[in-house]
Amino acid sequence: MAEDSRALDARYYMPAFSRTMKIVRGAGSRVWDDQGHEYIDCVAGIAVASTGHCHPAVVKAICDQAHELIHCSNLYYVPNQAELAEKLVGISGLSKVFFSNSGAEASDGAIKLARVRTGRKKFVAFTHGFHGRTCGSLAVTHKPAIREPFEPLSIPCTFVDYGDLDALAGAVDKDTAGVFLEPIQGEAGVLMPPDDFLKGIREICDDTGALMIVDEVQTGMGRTGKWFAFQYSGVTPDIVTTAKGLASGFPIGALIAREGLEFKRSEHGSTFAGGPLACAAALATIGVIEGVLPDVVRKGERFMKGLSRHNPRGRGLIIGMSVGDRCPEVQQACAENGVLVNCAADGNLRLIPPLVITDEEIDTAVDVINAALG
Ligand SMILES: *Cc1c(COP(=O)(O)O)cnc(C)c1O
Repeated sequence: MAEDSRALDARYYMPAFSRTMKIVRGAGSRVWDDQGHEYIDCVAGIAVASTGHCHPAVVKAICDQAHELIHCSNLYYVPNQAELAEKLVGISGLSKVFFSNSGAEASDGAIKLARVRTGRKKFVAFTHGFHGRTCGSLAVTHKPAIREPFEPLSIPCTFVDYGDLDALAGAVDKDTAGVFLEPIQGEAGVLMPPDDFLKGIREICDDTGALMIVDEVQTGMGRTGKWFAFQYSGVTPDIVTTAKGLASGFPIGALIAREGLEFKRSEHGSTFAGGPLACAAALATIGVIEGVLPDVVRKGERFMKGLSRHNPRGRGLIIGMSVGDRCPEVQQACAENGVLVNCAADGNLRLIPPLVITDEEIDTAVDVINAALG
């Protein structure tokens, strides 16, 4: 990488991230760094570039809207906002939407909605779960290393082992506002729940009146081969959040709630959320995903078959493999051979490529990853 970029970053930007290269261009499932190297991108901006980089339909929607109106405020009816809400209701089977600017903010909205509608204060969430970095969402995020330095956080939350329904039944009571879960744990490194886990959570929530809040920030918008991963479970959550893949990289998040669960006047708000540009990008993104969704499971299986000797797990195009301490080396070796992958928690190599990735790109990525894993 150009030394001046690195030096400038070190001089002026807070060192909260560990960075490698500088990416300057993208098209489809490919990106290029500032040295002109090309990569097949199995990170996709962390499951964000669902339609690939700079999909022409998304670029056009953003540009067209930018010429009309960039921002107007939620004091007015916002172009594209109700249309996007209608789409999200249609694909989720839930009832009403509230937009945010990020996944963490969608979690915060879910915390507020659960509290204000149940009148209860406490939450239950799972070990290894990730729901965001704001002071609200961090309180329901498990990883002690990122949460504890910021305690006390004002949201009381009990953590139980992911997959353990008995422990959950013991932790949820009539004072629990909501149970937060990921249908597949993404940041943890693609950890799969046991069969019927969501069904069991639904029952415990029904018995106690706690709301079932499914965080689909990473698994949503077609990544698992259905619009939302909960749709494999046969049950419907009370609240679903989504963000990452929703608008191909334009910042937006959403919470979608069942009939009867909604913010009343002045209970929530946001200056930017659900603006005309973000909603235009999301509507175009959903249009592209509609076309590729039928292929996502098949593409995921092609990946998993190619990587089978390393015991991959996942569903559709969210795939993880336990690699251990050498994960950073493997990531580096893949990059040197033109494939971007990333290490999620605990030595888990994670693949979350664009949903538009081609069979040829999958096969090339598989060869490079297999070679790097040895
Ligand atoms: C990334 C992520 C978040 C946080 O989203 P941000 O947009 O980074 O705030 C929340 N939940 C899950 C499951 C995520 O993967």
